[in-house]
Amino acid sequence: MTEVERRKSATPAPTSWDYAPAPESREVVTLRERYDHYVGGEWLAPSETYTTISPSSEESLAEIGQASPEEVGLAVAAARDAFANGWSALPGAERAKYLFRIARILQERAREFAVLESLNGGKPIKESRDVDLPLAAAHFFYYAGWADKLEYAFPNRRPKPVGVAGQIIPWNFPLLMLAWKIAPALACGNTVVLKPAETTPLSALLFCDVVRQAELPPGVVNIVTGDGRTGAALVTHDDVDKIAFTGSTEVGKAIQRELAGSGKRLTLELGGKAANVIFDDAALDQAVEGIVNGIYFNQGHVCCAGSRLLVQESIYEQLIGKLKRRLSTLRVGDPLDKNTDVGAINSKLQLEKIEELVAAGKEEGAEIYQPPCTLPEKGYWFAPTVFTNVAQSYRIAQEEIFGPVLSVLTFRTPDEAVEKANNTMYGLSAGVWTEKGSRILWMAERLRAGVVWANTYNRFDPASPFGGYRESGFGREGGRHGLEPYLKFDE
Ligand code: NDP
Repeated sequence: MTEVERRKSATPAPTSWDYAPAPESREVVTLRERYDHYVGGEWLAPSETYTTISPSSEESLAEIGQASPEEVGLAVAAARDAFANGWSALPGAERAKYLFRIARILQERAREFAVLESLNGGKPIKESRDVDLPLAAAHFFYYAGWADKLEYAFPNRRPKPVGVAGQIIPWNFPLLMLAWKIAPALACGNTVVLKPAETTPLSALLFCDVVRQAELPPGVVNIVTGDGRTGAALVTHDDVDKIAFTGSTEVGKAIQRELAGSGKRLTLELGGKAANVIFDDAALDQAVEGIVNGIYFNQGHVCCAGSRLLVQESIYEQLIGKLKRRLSTLRVGDPLDKNTDVGAINSKLQLEKIEELVAAGKEEGAEIYQPPCTLPEKGYWFAPTVFTNVAQSYRIAQEEIFGPVLSVLTFRTPDEAVEKANNTMYGLSAGVWTEKGSRILWMAERLRAGVVWANTYNRFDPASPFGGYRESGFGREGGRHGLEPYLKFDE
């Protein structure tokens, strides 16, 4: 037998990976000093403005309009005019052409949008580049395909557009939420007035340029910026036929109260506190990636984030060990660096909310783990966090943190997993990790959540409907289901 020769390597095996900075250039984005509202295909100077910043550096980026009720009124009037004078009567195949154009322009200008999204919102460029932008374009492509097939989607029901849609979106996926709202509304022949979130208006304002480039008739898409007061003015405007809202459960409830009895249509996509359930037969390394993607993707600013991890007791130690090791490899920092995994928290207010809930978790007795990481001095940051030893009654197991904070609980039997997973006021999403197909189906039947992912997490497709149960809201976005809220039927 030959002797195996073991040579001593001159360079020792690396114990850690250091990444050289890989910043994406900001040059592709041209910021204006001030942005007006986009009404009737023109820029409407606002009576009041505020400053939008970059949450990763606190740098001022631009002055943004704070729309008054009168300015909202002008936008609604422009949308009504466009609805009545052409858009709603346009053949579906013609509407589709505009949507296809918008989709293609979004693809062409994807880099510009991705940089702007990361700059204004704090999310890592690899996420805005690889998730937000491709999905936003895909939504326009998908709904373009439905525009001339509504009669087939709803046979014998004579679908007709609803009218003017008021759309209010949050700050976690600014352009993607815009696409989720505008694409189906336009495909069905409606016109829209959209209000982006106060902290992330820039990609919606750049989208106005796409609308202009696509030569969409004036007034079909109107964008008004501002804070909650602007949203409230849109909700209460008499000439709006439908409100589509994505945001917090609290504001969603207020909107529902406001609209009760008004005859206006409403869809609400609200918060979540999803259970990500790991059975002992799951592929653990794969599950760890799914857990990380479930809660640290977009700094946990995700309504369907897998924020409650339910682990089968027999694999608890092993899984938590692997998870902690994986956490120590996450790179937190500059959102425009292509190596960054976890970017900045979207706003000071959101950071304070996360800090408050994390303090409550420690106080109530949960055990906190954060990997060693150096956070930038300027901007709003929070290290990826895992809480173990969490009881179901703790606030961190009940309330939506909307940050990179995971609460871990355990279970012994599938029944107990279902019981614990459903022990929440929300019902937006859930994850199941197991090798057994029958167990996936058994769980999916029992989990009270709008979406159940199996052996994956945070997967989106425009063809797949998304929405909640209970306090996560009602109505579906995506797929054929996503057309329905924007149509009325002769029945
Ligand atoms: P909000 O519900 O306040 O914001 C969502 C949108 O509604 C924003 O455009 C907001 O404007 C607008 N808005 C605020 N008040 C009103 C009102 N009275 N009438 C009409 N529109 C209004 O969410 P926040 O940004 O305050 O976030 C708070 C919490 O909500 C988060 O911590 C998270 O838990 C949850 N959330 C859930 C989201 C989801 O996707 N399900 C998304 C975002 C937040 P403005 O930007 O000025 O506040």
